[in-house]
Amino acid sequence: MDFQFTEEQNMLRSSVRSFVDKEIMPHIAEWDRAGKFEPSIMEKLADLGLMGVCIPEKYGGSGMDYNALAIVCEELERGDTAFRTAVSVHTGLNSMSILQWGSEEQKQKYLVPQAKGEKVGAFGLTEPAAGSDVAAMQATAVKDGDYYMLNGQKTWISLCDIADHFLVFAYTDKSKKHHGISAFIVERDWEGFSSKAIKGKLGIRAGNTGEIFFDNLKVPKENLLGEEGEGFKIAMASLDNGRFTVAAGAVGQIMACMEASVDYCHERETFGKPIGKHQLVQQMIANMEAGLQMSRLLVYRAGELKNAGKRNTRETSLAKWQACDFANKAADDAVQIHGAYGFSDEYPVERYLRNSKAPVIYEGTREIHTVMQAEYVLGYRQDKPLNKMLPAWEQD
Ligand SMILES: Cc1cc2nc3c(=O)[nH]c(=O)nc-3n(C[C@H](O)[C@H](O)[C@H](O)COP(=O)(O)OP(=O)(O)OC[C@H]3O[C@@H](n4cnc5c(N)ncnc54)[C@H](O)[C@@H]3O)c2cc1C
Repeated sequence: MDFQFTEEQNMLRSSVRSFVDKEIMPHIAEWDRAGKFEPSIMEKLADLGLMGVCIPEKYGGSGMDYNALAIVCEELERGDTAFRTAVSVHTGLNSMSILQWGSEEQKQKYLVPQAKGEKVGAFGLTEPAAGSDVAAMQATAVKDGDYYMLNGQKTWISLCDIADHFLVFAYTDKSKKHHGISAFIVERDWEGFSSKAIKGKLGIRAGNTGEIFFDNLKVPKENLLGEEGEGFKIAMASLDNGRFTVAAGAVGQIMACMEASVDYCHERETFGKPIGKHQLVQQMIANMEAGLQMSRLLVYRAGELKNAGKRNTRETSLAKWQACDFANKAADDAVQIHGAYGFSDEYPVERYLRNSKAPVIYEGTREIHTVMQAEYVLGYRQDKPLNKMLPAWEQD
């Protein structure tokens, strides 16, 4: 076991932190208020090599390890959940899935431009009547010669109006239930594709989330990812990577809550002393610290398993569940520490509280992860190695 960051990882953290402080922090309150996704941030992330940080260099990425991706997500979410969510869907849910399951042709065509940040990827699994219960999906893909005819609708899709490529899931054979779902890479420009943003979100208002529609969308058969019927397995494996990035982001959210709260503890005085001197306020700060340190350890343990090419569904689920719960509590306490000022957008903590809710819902709700963890302990759930594992990290 080695609990030290490498020099390269430390340099990565400080460069993402400076980027966030300079390019995101000064504008985020305004973007959030306006419900505006700022696309130039994606271009700047690409310039810094952060759109494919853990994708091998031979596929256009930066070739760093999976914990480097965690560091990027932590530091981005310290700025705002919207940009970490963008990296989660682009890299965690889409690019890493193509790396794991894609043919060489698919990697060259889709992964390389995505890892370089020239194209943006997203992930379409959820439907209006199918969230946690993935197999309740209704989208269909009917084989017709060299094409699949895709029809259906996905909802709550991050980067719905921004992404160029979407990894989507549909039934190729409904009679086979989970084993009848297949995965496809779809391009926005194809006829029959449309998208529409959802308005009135509680949080992640500086992010773009919405619906995508497939209306007789012709998907070339070369764009089937994996084999027909492997879609459910691919979706779950993708979530192992997406959840990892969400958990890492939650660590950044806790950092942001702590920074704001510590500053306020020193600044605000009641009963003749700084509020940081009151024990009940200290308890909230201590809980944030405990949540931060425990979440970090869970995230980096999952990252080390990924680096070693080992199955990590159980460890990643635990990290995602716990880190997101800790972040949600830290944000609630951060507002509490700020008293009435925390209730206004004069301080960032109200945004942290609103933003901290979606991660407790997406990529497996709190309840789904609770059930998963209980099932592992009780012996009802076991993971076997997959026929295609996420490649282990290979140091140059
Ligand atoms: C901001 C945001 C961005 C998102 N981005 C994406 C994206 O990019 N791509 C994508 O595909 N999806 C995305 N989602 C969708 C997200 O993954 C789903 O919302 C999530 O899977 C939960 O599904 P649901 O909302 O349909 O809730 P439901 O599954 O309907 O759950 C409702 C409630 O019932 C509980 N519940 C359900 N089943 C069980 C059970 N077996 N045991 C106990 N409790 C249960 C849930 O925990 C929850 O409390 C996003 C969501 C949000 C909010």
